[in-house]
Amino acid sequence: MMSVSANIENIRQAIPSGIELIAVSKTMPEEVIMEAYNAGQRKFGENKVQELASKQLNLPSDIQWHFIGHLQTNKVKYIVPFVEMIQSVDSYKLLKEIDKQAAKAKRSIQCLLQFHIAEEETKYGFNLEEAKQMFQTLKNEPLHHVIICGVMGMATFTDDEKQLRKEFKSLKTIFENIKKDYLSEITNFKEISMGMSGDYILAIEEGATIIRVGSNIFGNRLYNLK
Ligand SMILES: *Cc1c(COP(=O)(O)O)cnc(C)c1O
Repeated sequence: MMSVSANIENIRQAIPSGIELIAVSKTMPEEVIMEAYNAGQRKFGENKVQELASKQLNLPSDIQWHFIGHLQTNKVKYIVPFVEMIQSVDSYKLLKEIDKQAAKAKRSIQCLLQFHIAEEETKYGFNLEEAKQMFQTLKNEPLHHVIICGVMGMATFTDDEKQLRKEFKSLKTIFENIKKDYLSEITNFKEISMGMSGDYILAIEEGATIIRVGSNIFGNRLYNLK
């Protein structure tokens, strides 16, 4: 059994230096997160508000937390005071609430827009039309406490390489479309977050700038661990 620090080292060896590695620590206990921290990892991803808020209280304050799960508007206020990036913004309503809470907390929150690229029906996210409508609205009603840094997507759970590449390409195309039409002069819009344990090499080949890796670092998740 490999150690957490050896796993992180292996991934760093395998990826180009400009790619951000988010260690997805959902369900993992704090002492295991500290193993990754002690190996130099500072960016961690969580997908549950309560779990993230309690881990943030107990773990070092220089950890940069990325929220990657479905976020209900009424829970935004619990993570905005400390979170570095919300990768899973899937509606205009949610973006507005993040902006409102960030203003209260006197912060600016980096956000990624989550797009639906998988075949599975259950995954949250914008489609390109909805996103374009939102950018039209934002032209007239800009938000000052969110920074839209790019896009995020989850591919279908499959090992069909052709399918995965097709979905990653579709996210890259969405990114380029938005950048060209709405954000060409905004240099913040530069991130494509895609690729997980099974497919991050493919994702990087297809243009990922951020990868989100859980089980390849921490081993299998213990879903009954609360
Ligand atoms: C759990 C999760 C990951 C990491 O999944 P692994 O297959 O364990 O690497 C990445 N992104 C999101 C949004 C997740 O919920």
